[in-house]
Amino acid sequence: MISANEKEKVIDQAFRDSFATISQKGKRNFLFPKQPKGPLYNKRTLASIIYLIVFFSLPWIKINGEPMIMLNVLKRKFILFGQIFGPQDFFIFALAMITFVVFIILFTAVFGRIFCGWACPQTIFMEMVFRKIEYWIDGDFHKQQQLKAMPWNGFKIRKRIIKISVFYIVSFIIANYFMAYLISMDEVLRYVHDGIGAHASTFAALLLFTSVFFFVFYWFREQVCIVVCPYGRLQGVLLDKNSIVVAYDYVRGEPRGKVKSNDPEPKGDCIDCKACVRVCPTGIDIRNGTQLECVNCTACIDACDEIMESLDRPKQLIRYASENNIVKQEKLKVTGRIKAYSAVLLIILSVLVVMLGTRDSVDITILRTQGMIYQQLPGGYTSNLYSARMFNKTHRDILVELSIPESEGSIEIIGKQPLIEKENYSVITFLIKRKNETISKRKSNVMIEIRAEGKKIATQKTTFIGPIHS
Ligand code: SF4
Ligand code: SF4
Repeated sequence: MISANEKEKVIDQAFRDSFATISQKGKRNFLFPKQPKGPLYNKRTLASIIYLIVFFSLPWIKINGEPMIMLNVLKRKFILFGQIFGPQDFFIFALAMITFVVFIILFTAVFGRIFCGWACPQTIFMEMVFRKIEYWIDGDFHKQQQLKAMPWNGFKIRKRIIKISVFYIVSFIIANYFMAYLISMDEVLRYVHDGIGAHASTFAALLLFTSVFFFVFYWFREQVCIVVCPYGRLQGVLLDKNSIVVAYDYVRGEPRGKVKSNDPEPKGDCIDCKACVRVCPTGIDIRNGTQLECVNCTACIDACDEIMESLDRPKQLIRYASENNIVKQEKLKVTGRIKAYSAVLLIILSVLVVMLGTRDSVDITILRTQGMIYQQLPGGYTSNLYSARMFNKTHRDILVELSIPESEGSIEIIGKQPLIEKENYSVITFLIKRKNETISKRKSNVMIEIRAEGKKIATQKTTFIGPIHS
């Protein structure tokens, strides 16, 4: 027979075996969080307004006539703050990704998941755009619950039509901007000007993006953070007892419960009102400790502060704090782990800055034409055929000159002048011609110097094949 005390402990631990968003039958428990209010929520609203202004402004900003940011995956052309990157910049891209990951690790080790609550697009759009629209159309949580429970009638149908329409329109706007980040705002405006008929496949892609956004914000919601996003799952390894997270001060709060005059022993500050649980957009009880579902939105801090204020008790029973701060009242400590991450981050950042600073304006790959060995030319010459694939990373057309030392022969361009259009690829074909008597080896190396606008921009090594004339 299990004692009352043991039973209480079992119930206390039940949260470990279940998700707030999945019912006992394995079905989705749709959450209806109470609308948060309080100073932190106000600050988040302000931060999200700035965030949204930046998000919706960036595609309109141009540098040298080009978008400030464009991530055209299909055309393999990327522009970041006016700098053009192509597939040849893969190393820089990989290094930038590694820098970003190390930064996230360092940031998380110190500040927990502040990024999720304050800067992640999913949280910003879900909590600060769509959730606010939902409160505006359907009302606060209890009205939403009533609406869900009521049978389908004119009122419910009208509410649903309005909500679905507004959600879909906002998703459509976001999808357009998402597309502008991919192909540039100019292209999006051109498609709009040309009409749907002229770009049916692009419009279909746009509707697909819109539907995905609609699905995520209308129905999938917090599941993105709980089930899809890998970042939450990494918390177990990234956080330690010094990391600052949204935390419940169990030292001060326990034992929890309503204060009664006949209590055998004094209670903690938590009155078990569950106000913190009601506002949580992921449905968890922060008093159970740091959990992967917690996106550090701070709604529970505001909710608990309001309760503490009404009880005339000190606020911050739930607050940004580390485990060591709660238990030992320790301030933020710079641990060995933080120092090591910082050192690695600094090294990678330095390498990245050097790579960016020494980046060529033109990327060139020279290859001897496959399947051809050499051609014997009249006048005692031998030639090899080459192709040079070039990518111009600047905002102007560049005229390129190729040359080799006179003693190694000469270069003859086939076709038009090697002018590489701005932000574009160009392939030129050329011959290297050598006097037969200067060829002493069947295969020898040739260094080709590439100059643009009178400046040497690269030297490429290739090979020359010819008959041996002794
Ligand atoms: S526990 Fe608090 S901070 Fe974490 S998601 Fe819920 S309301 Fe937000
Ligand atoms: S809001 Fe504060 S007092 Fe109420 S249950 Fe949560 S932690 Fe306890």
